[in-house]
Amino acid sequence: MSPAPSVTIIGGGLAGSEAAWQLARRGHPVTLHEMRPVQTTPAHKTDRLAELVCSNTFKSTEVTNAHGLLKSEMQLLGSLILEAAEGARVAAGSALAVDRDAFAAAVTARIESEPLITIVRGEVTRVAGPCVIATGPLTSDALAEAIRERLGVNALAFYDAIAPIIARESIDDEIVFRASRYGKETMAGADEEGAYLNCPMTREQYDAFLDALVAADQYHGHEFDEVPYFEGCMPVEVAAKRGRDTLRFGPLKPVGLRDPRTGRDAHAVVQLRQEDRAGRMWNVVGFQTRLRIPEQQRVLRMIPGLENAEFLRYGSIHRNSYLNSPAALTPHLSARDDSTVMFAGQITGVEGYTESTATGLLAGINLARILSGEEPVVPPPTTMLGALYRYMREADPKHFQPMNANFGLVDDLPQVIRDKKRKRGEIAARSLVEMRHWMETYALLPNGPMPEVVLGRREPGGEWAPAAT
Ligand SMILES: Cc1cc2nc3c(=O)[nH]c(=O)nc-3n(C[C@H](O)[C@H](O)[C@H](O)COP(=O)(O)OP(=O)(O)OC[C@H]3O[C@@H](n4cnc5c(N)ncnc54)[C@H](O)[C@@H]3O)c2cc1C
Repeated sequence: MSPAPSVTIIGGGLAGSEAAWQLARRGHPVTLHEMRPVQTTPAHKTDRLAELVCSNTFKSTEVTNAHGLLKSEMQLLGSLILEAAEGARVAAGSALAVDRDAFAAAVTARIESEPLITIVRGEVTRVAGPCVIATGPLTSDALAEAIRERLGVNALAFYDAIAPIIARESIDDEIVFRASRYGKETMAGADEEGAYLNCPMTREQYDAFLDALVAADQYHGHEFDEVPYFEGCMPVEVAAKRGRDTLRFGPLKPVGLRDPRTGRDAHAVVQLRQEDRAGRMWNVVGFQTRLRIPEQQRVLRMIPGLENAEFLRYGSIHRNSYLNSPAALTPHLSARDDSTVMFAGQITGVEGYTESTATGLLAGINLARILSGEEPVVPPPTTMLGALYRYMREADPKHFQPMNANFGLVDDLPQVIRDKKRKRGEIAARSLVEMRHWMETYALLPNGPMPEVVLGRREPGGEWAPAAT
């Protein structure tokens, strides 16, 4: 039998380490290129693989939390990063928080001791398959240039300017109304009433909102994270400070949006644009922001109709190299002209430690499949991982922004369940069953027994209680 083809991984962060491990497990010799310590990024401090650049938590382990569900799916698939995180776990309730040094040391040791993986220190400046490019939000300039040359100059952005996303079911239909400005801004699939949800404000409401917005506490990032604000991605709080009417003549412009309840234009209107095909996620238009998370909750809940808003994603503005995946990549996140030039991690447009690792895991699985003549596969959108991939495949390329795991991405249940926790438990239960079925279909089952997490039980009240938590 001929040996499995060798592969290159660029970037020894969370996604790259996971991808390297998955490929080695499947018999491929791997060369893992990590530029540190020869060259470093503005955020990393050590030469270790899988260094956590900021917080030390992978967030919740509860399956009724989106990050917890994603972790359970990754556990089924056999994630090295999660195994190392469990080994370096520190007390943090149901969150998977780690001793960052012990965690990165454990990943580095596991990768170094894997005979099929060779680590090469130094910057990579060109793209050649078969490879997984997992160079993260702080991809070096030379490689970023090579990626732009390969995929097209508009494929790679250097900053994100993210507006919050609100769960549809938490928006008050007694107050918001559907309309498109002058009935014109329609979009595919929108009903005749118009594409946007509109939150009308009186003068008093606008004034109170503006006062709260300009006084709210902001996040101050690292120096390198200071973003040169272009008009199109200026934080809403910065625009608000320019003058009391700046927002009313900008994103909160009320003209052409007649409130059907009053028959008049409001003093100001906050618009929400549909983010996903199923209409569960709504983006607050023009509200990219650096406000701290509790401040985003407090200030945005002053907007009429959003008093009980459930945030599926918070706003942020960062230095972040990421691809416009729906426009530039295939559904399994490879270059369109070469399915063995794959991308993984934050550079694909996912956001967060767990999400980045998850795409590294699937990239490893898929590159191994492609190299042995099989089709790449993606889990169904009833799973959190499959739902994230669907977002990166189907999101509107004109408005594409990085996305974290959240329940708004996942297919709804056929039945209506009002209790939120119970509903999420049911979605999680379905997801883990479907993930296992998907793994069986494509022969992705681990050699040993499946991890405990699928052996959950349903409580007498109908609540899902996985065995592993
Ligand atoms: C400052 C900052 C703070 C963040 N904080 C959090 C947080 O608290 N929680 C959270 O969930 N997410 C956070 N993120 C987002 C994201 O989850 C992390 O950046 C995560 O580490 C991404 O994983 P990754 O594997 O895609 O990239 P990384 O972990 O950054 O790994 C990429 C690796 O590629 C290497 N590299 C880059 N260019 C080259 C090249 N040309 N050749 C060879 N190697 C190269 C880098 O040195 C790095 O080791 C943060 C991001 C940033 C920038």
